[in-house]
Amino acid sequence: MAFRRLERKLRGLVGALLVIGAGMTAAAFFIPGQQADPSPALQAESTAPPLPLSGWTILVDAGHGGYDGGARARDSGMWEKHLNLAVARETEKTLAARGARVIMTRREDEDLCEEPRPAALTKKRQDMLNRVELAVQSSADMVLSIHMNEYRDRSQSGPQVFYRKGSEAGRLLAGAMQEALIHGLSPKKQRSALPGDYFILQLEVPSVLIECGFISNPAEEKLLLSPDYQAQLAEAIADGAESYVTLRPRSTSVPGGTPPAGAR
Ligand SMILES: [Zn+2]
Repeated sequence: MAFRRLERKLRGLVGALLVIGAGMTAAAFFIPGQQADPSPALQAESTAPPLPLSGWTILVDAGHGGYDGGARARDSGMWEKHLNLAVARETEKTLAARGARVIMTRREDEDLCEEPRPAALTKKRQDMLNRVELAVQSSADMVLSIHMNEYRDRSQSGPQVFYRKGSEAGRLLAGAMQEALIHGLSPKKQRSALPGDYFILQLEVPSVLIECGFISNPAEEKLLLSPDYQAQLAEAIADGAESYVTLRPRSTSVPGGTPPAGAR
């Protein structure tokens, strides 16, 4: 048995070396000066369809941070801000892999406050204003704000997406996102997207606040703390964004380009 395993391993290794060798040959083919005669591989690359999210700038907002911990997980004591950041960073990867230009409101455990702060502004207000400002400055086409939910009744569970009441694009994105989260995570409790009065949702671009799950629910808290589940969440969130881009009325889309103002 041991010999068989070794033999299989060796075969695998030889196979891998052959692949690497082929790759190196291909790489050698593309050195500058040898590109006058494009290979079939190069031609195929130039006709490849654009990635599903290319042309889209997406703002990913890891909720809270720094002085503002957000909610606190009931059993582990983990602050919401840390989980939001972990999921946001995973989401940055999944969106970028599908061609999106991703802007993050934060990449560390920090708030978006500045010193000195105008006396009229509370810390929370300045932090929120700066997140919205970042979306405007980066000309984001979509805003995804990542949060964790909590409730005193510990039986409550399931992801929940919010949009701004009256925003058609927001409602459509929230519906697509909620659907993708249910499909990707198969939560026990399947919720529907809801209108919500959150500061980050005030923009004209389609914006959603994603409550990934309840850190007050014992089983869901365990899931939300696990890197595997966080990666699954990020894939589902990218699925939701992609599904929204596909769902929008065809007339409002510019192939491979920036969505027109009317769609924002
Ligand atoms: Zn929150």
